[in-house]
Amino acid sequence: MSHKTTFDSSFLLESSTYANVFTFMGRPLSRDITDSSVDAVVMGIPLDLTTTARSGTRYGPNGVRQASAQLRWQKQRWPWRFELAEKLNVIDYGDVSFEEGRLENMIETVVEHASRIIAAGKMLLSIGGDHFVTLPLLRAHAKKHGKMALLHFDAHPDTEESELPHHHGTMFYHAPKEGLIDPAKSVQVGIRTEYDYDNHEFTVLDANWVNNHSTESVLEKIRETIGDTPVYLSFDIDCLDPAFAPGTGTPVPGGLTASRALEIVHGLQGLNIVGMDLVEVSPPYDHADITSLVGATLALEMLYVIAAGR
Ligand code: MN
Ligand code: MN
Repeated sequence: MSHKTTFDSSFLLESSTYANVFTFMGRPLSRDITDSSVDAVVMGIPLDLTTTARSGTRYGPNGVRQASAQLRWQKQRWPWRFELAEKLNVIDYGDVSFEEGRLENMIETVVEHASRIIAAGKMLLSIGGDHFVTLPLLRAHAKKHGKMALLHFDAHPDTEESELPHHHGTMFYHAPKEGLIDPAKSVQVGIRTEYDYDNHEFTVLDANWVNNHSTESVLEKIRETIGDTPVYLSFDIDCLDPAFAPGTGTPVPGGLTASRALEIVHGLQGLNIVGMDLVEVSPPYDHADITSLVGATLALEMLYVIAAGR
């Protein structure tokens, strides 16, 4: 029997930006998902076992948490006109833990925790972790929502045709085969790497297209394709240009600016978002925490988008 200790961590909210333990935005550290006042859960998945290049994403969740402290002084995040907590009560669930080197155990653990949180009716925002974490997360979300649309921000399509079951570049090859997502309703934003563009049904708004069109045109394409289908939002930080996000495993020059990505995410209000993740932040390759900071900012923006719909 595990001994459960609960404590009031609301003091974190009053901490300065540099003191105390760091939860996401100073939100209470809690796993009490039976609490009906809780609307959304931030969960860390410290995985870097399926990377193909530089590693270090196991430190992603805590990098994002630490950087989020810099965002706490602003009561209403610009340009929103309300305080997040007025509409969305968020808790930090901490990181899930799994046996080192055992991916099967990571997958089971993520599916188990995520499924419980989703079944309790909470919005789940997961912080990776390398991008492979999205596959078990999609499995957990599909249990409740069935086949979903995917809105995927990335430099890479992650649709590599591979029978390798555990790889951070193959999730969106396997997910449609498992019936988790419908590529015909899904959009990939910011892609700028090798891809068999003619041989799949995803709508691809590649980096050049996005950089040469207005934010409104990007959002129009997204809304047109996804409609009101329940959609899972997955944001790989390498969608951004390495100038804005150097701290990641497989950076690709020619990406989106931070402001562009934030504007696009800001405009996602009205989509039927059922789950979200922010992945591939690798603090060991970061400089002055800029990747962690933009990761935290995007994660917060996602929560505001959910809050705006409540
Ligand atoms: Mn990816
Ligand atoms: Mn990527």
